[in-house]
Amino acid sequence: MAVPLRAHHLLCLLSYSGEGYSPAFVHGFNGIVQRLADAEPIELVTGPDAICAPLCSDPCAHCHNQSVTQRDQLAADALAPWFERPLVPGARLTLSAQRLAQLRAAFAQDQFHRACAGCPWDGLCADIARNGFAGTLLHMEPVAVPTD
Ligand code: SF4
Repeated sequence: MAVPLRAHHLLCLLSYSGEGYSPAFVHGFNGIVQRLADAEPIELVTGPDAICAPLCSDPCAHCHNQSVTQRDQLAADALAPWFERPLVPGARLTLSAQRLAQLRAAFAQDQFHRACAGCPWDGLCADIARNGFAGTLLHMEPVAVPTD
């Protein structure tokens, strides 16, 4: 199995602290965080993904908005160097403790600001980054390197 994610949600994962649009959204997001912490891979998708799912039946949901699609493209472009490959639909990605730390460091250095511009959570995510990502929920165990 792989977790279907749209590109800009790779950024949202970095600062996710259990806050979101609704209890159902938060419940679903928590489950995805757990799957990723358990080393399940990610499959990049276009449009609404596993995180959007609890919101998609809401007529006010922004999941299909052009601005959100554009955010995905900006995020994919900005994140590609970190995954050392183009982030195109269908790409399979893996997170690791090291990659998570690298992405968080880059986020804190504002390297993804273009993708986040205009997002209503921008201020909160910036504060979380400034506070060293304290209180965020995605944690990954470093992989032990054999010594012999
Ligand atoms: S500012 Fe918005 S798009 Fe950027 S990481 Fe936070 S929630 Fe995601």
